Amino acid sequence: MKAEIISIGTELLMGETVDTNSSYLAAELAKIGVDLVWATKVGDHPGRLEEAIRRAWRRSDVTLTTGGLGPTSDDLTRESIASVMGEDMTVQDDLLAHLRSQFEGRGIRMPETNIKQATLIPSATVIPNPMGTAPGWWVERGGHVIAAMPGPPREIGSMWENEVGPRLRRLSPNIAIVTRTLKTFGITEGGLDEMLAPLFESENPSLGIYSKQDGIHLRAIARAGTDAEARKLIEPVESEIRRVAGGAIWGEDEDTPVSAALGALRRRGMTLGVAEGFTGGLLCSTLLEEDGAAEVLRGALVAGGGMMGAGVSDSPTADDAATMAAAAKDSVGADVGLAITGLVKTESAGSGRAGSTHIGIALGNETHVRSGAYPTRRLRIRARAVTHALLELARVIETGAGGQEERWG
Ligand code: ATP
Repeated sequence: MKAEIISIGTELLMGETVDTNSSYLAAELAKIGVDLVWATKVGDHPGRLEEAIRRAWRRSDVTLTTGGLGPTSDDLTRESIASVMGEDMTVQDDLLAHLRSQFEGRGIRMPETNIKQATLIPSATVIPNPMGTAPGWWVERGGHVIAAMPGPPREIGSMWENEVGPRLRRLSPNIAIVTRTLKTFGITEGGLDEMLAPLFESENPSLGIYSKQDGIHLRAIARAGTDAEARKLIEPVESEIRRVAGGAIWGEDEDTPVSAALGALRRRGMTLGVAEGFTGGLLCSTLLEEDGAAEVLRGALVAGGGMMGAGVSDSPTADDAATMAAAAKDSVGADVGLAITGLVKTESAGSGRAGSTHIGIALGNETHVRSGAYPTRRLRIRARAVTHALLELARVIETGAGGQEERWG
């Protein structure tokens, strides 16, 4: 089944609203095995909107539209669909009564312009919208479908989950979809792409490569008649990825850097102390976003720039990261100390290399330091350093690699 998304609204073309609806719907379509082949953005212009819908109706089995179902004269989705279908819109008494009661419930008179939200064409049925006033349209004729949904993301989410997703699943009931995501860090997208080139040619399972804040993700999607068959299709692909990229893989599916680090600590019954320089508490707060982190995280030392409290200069070195990690561990009586420091200044960064970062890990009597620079801007360096520190912590705990100093970048 081939699908197409049309995101409607001039504000999307002006850069005022980010089109999150189409990314949400794209991810949902992938989960149910519907191939998204086109995604279009179009303004609130009658001619161009109609053209986009007409083209989608011809070339795609399923068209999902978002936006333009409001009551105003620039909300034109219904009119455009009616025109493409060559059908007349008529007001539905039950829909109108429901709409009026919604307004009465809020103690306001319904403006007459809202009446068009109570219309249908003969090929359309209503998609209820419990989160808003604009009901959607489910248009089905000659094996083609249009699901017209409103713009607000909250409304799209509930309509998809309760109505549109289940209806589409019923149209292609014999498909089981299994996805597997393997997450890597410290390896480039180009490098992975090259190493895994033959796997990208396969259509089922299909393999995608995505650059994310926590590294490069590889996602395999398999379709088959049953879950077990789909799983079987994915197995050799997963084994091959693990064979080729094994050392760089830190997690899978829902794993996050925080869950990887906390998981490694928990499996060994270890507690953690943290010391932060230029990340200014971001490592600590990122850890605490995970439920139960407070039981593992004993405490944190946070200072700006260098790490004055731990006797570290304002041009921190790899040795300072080791000192900070030991201080983080000992000052709060934890089993492991994790430190981030560095010199994140502009190009004129004096003696240190702009953006250079040191990650220190103290475990037992050993310390492990990783140093390097991230090729990115200041604000993102903080997030990158936190992700890196968490993944490095998980790796050192799992593999016991202590007493080393390594560089990246
Ligand atoms: P309403 O009844 O709320 O007017 P509508 O169907 O007419 O619904 P729009 O007016 O097009 O929808 O959009 C309403 C709001 O939804 C916009 O202000 C915007 O914040 C959000 N929105 C619209 N389209 C998108 C989109 N593609 N991605 C994310 N948000 C969107």
